Formats: sequence, structure tokens, C-alpha cells
Amino acid sequence: MSKKILIIGAGGQIGSELTYKLRSIYGQQNVIASDLNYNNLELVNSGTFEIIDAMDYASIKICCEKHDIDTIYLMAAILSATGEKYPMKAWDLNMQSLFHILNLAKAKAIKKVFWPSSIAVFGPTTPTENTPQHTTMEPTTVYGITKQVGERWCEYYHEKYGVDVRSLRYPGIISWKTLPGGGTTDYAVEIYHEAIKHKKYECFLSENTALPMMYMEDAIKATVNLMSADAEKVKIRSSYNLSGISFTPKQIAASIKKQIPEFEISYKPDFRQDIANSWPSSIDDTKARKDWDWKHQFDLDGITKDMLSNLVSKTK
Ligand code: NAD
Repeated sequence: MSKKILIIGAGGQIGSELTYKLRSIYGQQNVIASDLNYNNLELVNSGTFEIIDAMDYASIKICCEKHDIDTIYLMAAILSATGEKYPMKAWDLNMQSLFHILNLAKAKAIKKVFWPSSIAVFGPTTPTENTPQHTTMEPTTVYGITKQVGERWCEYYHEKYGVDVRSLRYPGIISWKTLPGGGTTDYAVEIYHEAIKHKKYECFLSENTALPMMYMEDAIKATVNLMSADAEKVKIRSSYNLSGISFTPKQIAASIKKQIPEFEISYKPDFRQDIANSWPSSIDDTKARKDWDWKHQFDLDGITKDMLSNLVSKTK
């Protein structure tokens, strides 16, 4: 039986690559991409695409009926840095869209939901090294608050209504295909673009700010593996800790210098430094590794090599 999948917010950094991967697994015709606009033309032209506002329950429901959807990946959100500029917009979008999808699943209009959480659920009172799955969570950003509350609701809908909802606390995601959309870890993507264009980069975080990060290929693999795991293996229904690597701006600069010796980095921390300071520097994801066999592949030098070679070929 073929699975019909709808991705909401598919034009973004993660949604776009998730769409391509799911189409390669489940078939082009079985994966419908949607977003608020046509901004990501490569994605729009790559297969079936619908305009959907994640705030609009009726249009999501109509699209599910039209395409016989059984699984939704909800990737639309306002991220950490943008959320601090527009707190109420972030609250409205991040919460309302989640309720719409959970309620569709509760009403049995769809069978399965993926909703991403984030390391932003943690806060300054959380242990920063090897942050455990279950620990103190007092997020200080509006984005982190929406993700923490969202996790509680996911678990609630699973426990009370039997909704099959699955979630990962993504770390900062690094990728070359689609630019990131306003997060605190965006520097780790911008730095590669600038290294190629100008051989220098002014970083908005300070040199020793360590944050948990992951290469896109690993993040997509984790998402696909979690969603295809047997339901009984998915023991955590709030959201799983997920870890790849951790590094500082100084360490990523050193990794780039191995490939581009002239590369120079300078530091001018802005408001995003406070956000980064409130997050863990590394994550303990033992539960994901044990419950559904998660393993990451890319280390920092592996990411650097892949990023630089792909960005160079893209600009040719
Ligand atoms: P992004 O900002 O790159 O993409 C979000 C997409 O949602 C955009 O294409 C945007 O047009 C779309 N969108 C915005 N408002 C919408 C609406 N009302 N209706 C429909 N679409 C709308 O974000 P991303 O980096 O791809 O993140 C996807 C998810 O992963 C989010 O939930 C985010 O919180 C989470 N996450 C991302 C990271 C990361 O490093 N990228 C880290 C942790 C968690």
C-alpha cells in the first residue's frame, strides 16, 4: 500500500530536502509539497505543489482529502532569531499549526504526524554538557517556549487520543541546498558561503560558543528512520534528543582553513549570542540510539568537505 504524504512548509531549509528524500523512497506521486508561497522555485517545479497556509485548518483538510493524505510532516515555523523579533507571530504560527495537525489526526483524517522540536526547548538552568533526555527545561526564547509547549501537547494527544505523533529535537542543521530561515545556528551555513565568496566571515557568535549541530543528510536520515520505525519502538512521544556533533565558531573556521588556507574569521556577537548562551553545548541522545537505532555519520571535517564541494559546483 502506498503512503501519501503532505509536507507543510516544504519550501524551507529542511522541508525541501525532506521532500526530495521522501519522493525518492515513496515515489514522486505520493509526496505532496506545500508552502505559503512559491519562493522555492526548484521545489515548486519538482513535483506536485500546493499553496497552504499552516494557520488555515480548512485548507489543510481539503488538501488531505484531495490527495488522500495519511501522513503529515509539519515543517512550517518561525525560528529562534526571527521569533525574538516577532514573538506573537511565532507563538501563533508555531502553536496553531500544530493544533490543526494534531486535531486532524485526532479526528482520524490522517494517521501519522511528524513535528520537529528543537534544542531550544532547553534553557539556562539545563545542564549544558551531554544534556539528558529528561531534565530541567526553562526556555527563555519565545521559539523555545513554543517547542516545549508543543512537545507537551504531542505527548498529550498520543496518551489521550492515540495520535501517532513523532518528534525530534533537531540541533542546528547545516546544509547547502536551501538557505536557513532565521535561526541562531545559521552562522554555520553562512560561513561556508562567505568562505567561498569572500574568504572571510564576520560571525555573530563569539569564538568559543559550542552548540550541537548536524549535517542535513543525518537529520533527514533520523527523520525517515523515526517515521518508519515500528510504533512500539517509539517510546518517547514528546520529542527525542538527537545528536550529531558539537563545535564552536573557532573550530569550524579551523576546519575551513584546512581547505581554504586564506580564510579568516572575525567575531561580532549580536542578540543571538544570548540565545546561544541559553542552549546546551552537547546532547545525550542515548534513547534515540537505543529505541530506533539512530546513528549519525558526518563529523566536522566531513561536513566541511561536502559543503564546500557542493557550494562550489552550485556556483559554477
Ligand atoms: P525554514 O524557516 O527554513 O522553513 C520554514 C518554511 O515554512 C518556509 O518555507 C516558510 O515559507 C514556511 N512557512 C512559514 N509560515 C507558513 C505558513 N503560515 N504556512 C505554511 N508555510 C509557512 O525552517 P526549517 O529550518 O526548514 O525548519 C523546519 C522545522 O524544523 C521548524 O519546525 C523548525 O523549528 C525546526 N528546526 C529547525 C532547525 C534548523 O537548524 N533549521 C533546528 C531545530 C528545529
